[in-house]
Amino acid sequence: MVPDQNLKERLSEGFSGDILTDVMLRDHTSLRIGGKADYLFIPSDPVSLLRLIDALSGEGIGYVLIGGGTNILVTDDGLEDVVINMKAFQSLERVGDRGADSGDSGDDVRVFAQAGLPLQRLVSFCREGGLSGIEGLVGIPGTVGGAVFGNAGSYGYEIMDVVQKVTALRGGSIVVLDREDINPTYRSGGFSPDTVILGVHMLLKRDDKGTLQDRMNEFLQMKKKTQPLGERSAGCIFKNPPAESAARLIDEAGYKGMRIGDIEISTLHANFFINKGQGSAGDFLALMDAVIEGIGRMFGIILEPEIGVIGKR
Ligand SMILES: Cc1cc2nc3c(=O)[nH]c(=O)nc-3n(C[C@H](O)[C@H](O)[C@H](O)COP(=O)(O)OP(=O)(O)OC[C@H]3O[C@@H](n4cnc5c(N)ncnc54)[C@H](O)[C@@H]3O)c2cc1C
Repeated sequence: MVPDQNLKERLSEGFSGDILTDVMLRDHTSLRIGGKADYLFIPSDPVSLLRLIDALSGEGIGYVLIGGGTNILVTDDGLEDVVINMKAFQSLERVGDRGADSGDSGDDVRVFAQAGLPLQRLVSFCREGGLSGIEGLVGIPGTVGGAVFGNAGSYGYEIMDVVQKVTALRGGSIVVLDREDINPTYRSGGFSPDTVILGVHMLLKRDDKGTLQDRMNEFLQMKKKTQPLGERSAGCIFKNPPAESAARLIDEAGYKGMRIGDIEISTLHANFFINKGQGSAGDFLALMDAVIEGIGRMFGIILEPEIGVIGKR
């Protein structure tokens, strides 16, 4: 698809928000890798989003959602599809304590966050408000929507543990999904690919602020020591196999520091691949394949990617 003024006009009918054309997606990912998208839409409200998706479907054009771009690899040839970013959806509010009268313990606090909110804004809100439940997510970049879609987690905490309801766009309408109807697993929120997460209702517990802050600081210090946080990465590349650690296997295989082009397996954390400069998606995928092949041969375990690969191949 080439940007075309008529198409742009048709897609922007009834649309409120920003429309960017000829966008280099490397500027929208933490890896700083990825080719071009013809269009990037940033809707400012759910109705605009709904209309856009409807118009795209009428034109027979696909779309891809990008949050913070911190868990994806965009290929070098970029995308045919339109890219949609939810960064205008940033509300965050405490929706009222349930209190003793409701029959609950009184420790419960409900919080609503929209999908485009940076996850660390939610974490800070909880730290400052003395709300426990997601402290293990401290330091994880990206947005609330991306975290919920992939059930982001760390140190035994997963975001879906606190999610009660998800407001989403699905099949052309806005739906509210109850937690009982969602089946999250390790690094998957359990959503169908056509689900656009708009916002999440969470149930958190009141906790002593000082204790909470100490716990978060401890997690953050551990992360800083064990993960290359300041480098260009997409977090863990492979899911941990059952009762095993992907990082341990890659380390054991002697692959730390292995490099193809400008993509290097971190010497600090073997499940992080780093873009050391002008790294390409081609080199990144080749390194992933080499690791999958080597770990399969050495340990009889097939590693599964945790990151999403988007774009033409
Ligand atoms: C330094 C570093 C450390 C990390 N540490 C961790 C960690 O400890 N634990 C962990 O789990 N992850 C970790 N990650 C990975 C990543 O930050 C998380 O998975 C994060 O939650 C992804 O959010 P995002 O907004 O960047 O999603 P993106 O990368 O933009 O998208 C990821 C997926 O979610 C989909 N998506 C995004 N928004 C929506 C939406 N609104 N509705 C539907 N689908 C959507 C996208 O289409 C894509 O398939 C780390 C990454 C980095 C770079």
